[in-house]
Amino acid sequence: MQPINQIFSEITSPKNIVITMHQKPDGDAMGSTLGLFHFLTQFGHQVKVISPTNWASFLSWMPGCKDVLDYEKEQVKSDAFITEADWIFCLDFNTMSRTKKMESALLNAKAVKILIDHHQQPQVEVFSFGASDTSKSSTAEMVYDFITGSGYHDKINNEVAQCLYAGVMTDTGSFRFPSTSANVHAMVSDFLKRGLKHSVIHEALFDNFTENRLRFIGNVLSNRMQLFYEYNTALISIPQQDLIKYDIKTGDTEGLVNYPLSIEGIKLATIIIDRGEERKLSFRSKGSFDVNTFARKYFEGGGHFNASGGQSKDSLEEVISKFKKAIAENKTELSTYQF
Ligand code: 5GP
Ligand code: MN
Repeated sequence: MQPINQIFSEITSPKNIVITMHQKPDGDAMGSTLGLFHFLTQFGHQVKVISPTNWASFLSWMPGCKDVLDYEKEQVKSDAFITEADWIFCLDFNTMSRTKKMESALLNAKAVKILIDHHQQPQVEVFSFGASDTSKSSTAEMVYDFITGSGYHDKINNEVAQCLYAGVMTDTGSFRFPSTSANVHAMVSDFLKRGLKHSVIHEALFDNFTENRLRFIGNVLSNRMQLFYEYNTALISIPQQDLIKYDIKTGDTEGLVNYPLSIEGIKLATIIIDRGEERKLSFRSKGSFDVNTFARKYFEGGGHFNASGGQSKDSLEEVISKFKKAIAENKTELSTYQF
């Protein structure tokens, strides 16, 4: 993988471009891809954003989102764009397997593949060019750096700013995680000077849920959370029947894993959701406990040092007992964490 600045000289010559992201895109995946989309379209490129799967409805306000293709719903159309592409940008994921059913189409495409991502251990051999930096707060911040580095900073219009702001804000937990650097605040300052209305974006992302979702969270916190104080750990496990009862949709469980971290002393929070076809896990930690390694070792997953995920085909009960064994094996690390 060559440095991404080597494509800057090609940016102005019109191309067919596909931009994609990880499955079940979150705010950063959708925000960074659409931010890049609104930048690239200004050069006369034909640009298509394709998501490997559907996404949470609270992301749909983003400019350009209604034209994003869902690969699972529109595979033939999506494959045509992928086959015809000169460039494919892969944003906010480190390995092609994170695109689920799109993986083989992406690998077989003749296009030049370009990575922009902040996860650990990227699959560098499948990308011709790229930027991979685990110190970055978000892929949205990296798209901003890409735009600035290309020399076309003046092309940051309101659409670009809105999408990139949504990405960085969600991936930094509203600017509270340690990854929120001076560069992040300088970028946001730049957006505000250009007229961005940030409070509208917070409202669009956080104040648009259903009554059912709030009642679901009440039930989860009352009945589905276990605490393991000897390990500074909390576990939320959600059976599929809860998802059905409260009519829970993609995205409604986003952020739930963070709730137990507000309990004094809790340094590892985990959520296991029984999605029927698989059990999906999310891990969040504070300080020195490395959940990227933990997810890789026990749950076929990965991610970042303090935020990761995994999955399992075992039953919910089996996954819970595997988790309990895993924290017991990590007792020393969990009880001697440091900031
Ligand atoms: P989340 O818990 O929000 O789904 O994911 C947290 C982080 O872990 C994200 O950066 C995501 O890319 C990564 N991640 C989540 N699930 C998986 C997984 O199954 N495999 C890998 N390699 N990474 C994951
Ligand atoms: Mn991200």
